[in-house]
Amino acid sequence: MANRLGDVCIFGAGVVGSTLACLLGLSPRTRHLKITLVDPAIPAILAGHSSVPKLGSVRVSSINPSSRAVFESVRVWPASDSDQPRSLLRPCNFTKMRVFDSSYRGALAFDAEEGKSLGSIVHNHALNAALLSAVQLHCTNVTLMPHTDGLLDSVSHFRNACADAGLVVGTDGSESKVRSLAGIGRVLKDYGHQAVVFNVRLNEQSDVAAQVFRKTGPVALLPLPDKLSNVVWSLPAREAHDLLRVLGSTSSADVFQVQDTLNEMFASRLGIFVEEILVEEKGSFPLRSSHVKSYYAGNVVLAGDAAHTVHPLAGQGLNMGISDAVVLAKSIVDTVSAGLELGDNMVELDTYQRNRFISNGKMMVAMEGIKSLFEVDNDVFREIRAAGMNFFRNSSFLSRQAVSFASGEDLPLSDMHIP
Ligand SMILES: Cc1cc2nc3c(=O)[nH]c(=O)nc-3n(C[C@H](O)[C@H](O)[C@H](O)COP(=O)(O)OP(=O)(O)OC[C@H]3O[C@@H](n4cnc5c(N)ncnc54)[C@H](O)[C@@H]3O)c2cc1C
Repeated sequence: MANRLGDVCIFGAGVVGSTLACLLGLSPRTRHLKITLVDPAIPAILAGHSSVPKLGSVRVSSINPSSRAVFESVRVWPASDSDQPRSLLRPCNFTKMRVFDSSYRGALAFDAEEGKSLGSIVHNHALNAALLSAVQLHCTNVTLMPHTDGLLDSVSHFRNACADAGLVVGTDGSESKVRSLAGIGRVLKDYGHQAVVFNVRLNEQSDVAAQVFRKTGPVALLPLPDKLSNVVWSLPAREAHDLLRVLGSTSSADVFQVQDTLNEMFASRLGIFVEEILVEEKGSFPLRSSHVKSYYAGNVVLAGDAAHTVHPLAGQGLNMGISDAVVLAKSIVDTVSAGLELGDNMVELDTYQRNRFISNGKMMVAMEGIKSLFEVDNDVFREIRAAGMNFFRNSSFLSRQAVSFASGEDLPLSDMHIP
């Protein structure tokens, strides 16, 4: 191996880093490359734990059809419903999406075509374990390195790492060390809100992803297998802290009150109700929007949350990262197919950056727009918003456009030639 850390060294084996490693390990165009995947959390991920301790079953993501096609291509997605019990993943498909404003007078409704779904909810830790296991089992050119070996301890150590690898990829999450050591800045907006996440048990299995935009922020109810549902409740930081405290309290009366509030929001509108709040696992995440000023510097390139974070209101953050992974993998394929070196002066990094700035930028503008639309709270605007939502709901053209946008990008997957 010419470079001690390989032709490509990926820091961060979360879902985005593992997807990139899987694509590069399975594509016949890149199978000759030596790839190193570095993450101290590798043993925990392979054991099926979350890389964020104690958040096993409450970190879930809504996967759009475009990302699903990527997971199908690397064969971590169950081929059929009957395949599910044998698979690490048990995706819960949803065929309906319902969105309400705080007055419940405005509503949006999206329904999948017959026999199709609008998306699937998966547990992050299960998806991550499935991807990393696929890397370990099927990608002989990928070396897993479960320690950082001091490579990110200082700028000089990092420079040595960069000199020891062709291309260095930072997929090490929103607090990316790779990004800061490479000196890549970002535009950051802290909403001062937190998303409190926990699971509930419903009276019956749901196939609806629902969201209510309340004055304090959106509350989402996302279906999971076994009649469970995941709640993502965005609140100002102080109120989020109070909700977490209530969920952790021994007073069942307080917990019942949260259950009642959820049922007031969803029960009559969805025809299902929350029977029980599963208080054992819960967590909260700060809500921030951020976008890097540059996707690469020298031979260092960023993808996933290391490059951008968005409000989870439309469940797109991970989907954007999966698109990054595919577009970056294609840039690597194109570079090696042209007989060029990976690393500094790689023109394909510019193509990658342009593509991702435009696609991710569009999504971030859309997220900000939706967020602002539901934040304004006066009588006149509430009426206009409700009328606008109802008009949108009744327009099959607008509904189709929205579903198509949320379904994700056309990704250059076929260029990977994965058999
Ligand atoms: C409440 C909430 C709900 C969300 N819901 C959705 C949703 O429905 N749909 C959706 O698409 N997105 C959703 N998102 C966003 C999604 O969770 C993230 O975009 C996604 O998890 C980012 O994946 P990643 O692999 O880029 O980063 P991460 O998941 O953060 O993984 C980073 C990895 O890097 C490793 N690492 C960290 N530091 C180092 C280091 N120094 N060296 C090596 N490795 C390191 C970590 O151990 C970890 O394994 C949600 C986010 C939140 C907060």
